[in-house]
Amino acid sequence: MNENAPGARYVIGIDLGGTFVKFVYARSDGEILMADKIPTRVSHGPDAVLSDIAKKIDELIDRNGHGRQNIIGCGIGCPGTVDADFRKVIFAPNLKWNDVDVKSKLEELAGLSVYIDNDANLAALGEYWRGAGRGVRDFICVTLGTGIGGGIVVNGKLLRGVNNNAAEVGHMTIDFNGAQCGCSNYGCWEKYASAPALVARVLNFLSINKNQRSKIPSIIFELCSNDLSKLNCELIFEAARRGDPMAKSAVNQQIEFTAIGLINLIYIFNPNKIILSGGLSAAGEDLIKPVIDTVFKKAPKVSLRDFEIKVSNLGNDAGSMGAIFLVLNEKNILEM
Ligand SMILES: [Zn+2]
Repeated sequence: MNENAPGARYVIGIDLGGTFVKFVYARSDGEILMADKIPTRVSHGPDAVLSDIAKKIDELIDRNGHGRQNIIGCGIGCPGTVDADFRKVIFAPNLKWNDVDVKSKLEELAGLSVYIDNDANLAALGEYWRGAGRGVRDFICVTLGTGIGGGIVVNGKLLRGVNNNAAEVGHMTIDFNGAQCGCSNYGCWEKYASAPALVARVLNFLSINKNQRSKIPSIIFELCSNDLSKLNCELIFEAARRGDPMAKSAVNQQIEFTAIGLINLIYIFNPNKIILSGGLSAAGEDLIKPVIDTVFKKAPKVSLRDFEIKVSNLGNDAGSMGAIFLVLNEKNILEM
């Protein structure tokens, strides 16, 4: 479809994350014309975040020059539980949102039809439509990022559960004596295998080490210019590659914990594929490859016969692509 053809229409897909809000401006056949992102001002509350989103929507419409009348709608993936009417975010621990009517507020601010769903469900739909889940009837998407999200497709359909709250894989309990999670429970998977979990583990090791009589030398301080607030997963992987004992042991634990959660999912769902996305899925040799090796060592052999783990080829766009799919599906103009 020529983007300037009279029938060409456009959709905006949004992925609302705990750190960034990602946007794609696409044609109705799924071709992405522009992508952008803004930081999520979590501490300013939902009104500020939604107003930032509406401003970016205006800017994308202006920059692309097709006019607001040619925008079919806007889809938005939210990190939390969405109500059964697909209007409100009931609870989003990473955003600290409770009962936020995203649909009404954003429709008013942006002057467009807005459709919302859980971000991880949308990432699974994005994969099913245009990614590694194409043509696969049973697969699970796991987003390894600020939190851990899940989207489960069973026999070609999203598993939603009775209250639209299925597939919250990040909150399965890995250690009931563990640290408290934003969901108020203890020892959730995302407290052990998300990006902040890795950073927290290293900080914990460093603080234990500080109080030891014979301290283990660490290059971590040097890598983050002696400012531990700058510590992130990339620096930790680099330190581990360079042989830093604390970084190595933190990464090894991260590998074990990530694999444990995936193996649990394989036991329960016997999927054809697990598709990994989110920031940590880019850490191939440092994290993902050893995670896959561990899963293949420990998961039940019978479930591994027709099974593979793939990193999303949509990368950071899976959620936004799913958001576009959501709008097109709602408007019955979907091209598979
Ligand atoms: Zn939790």
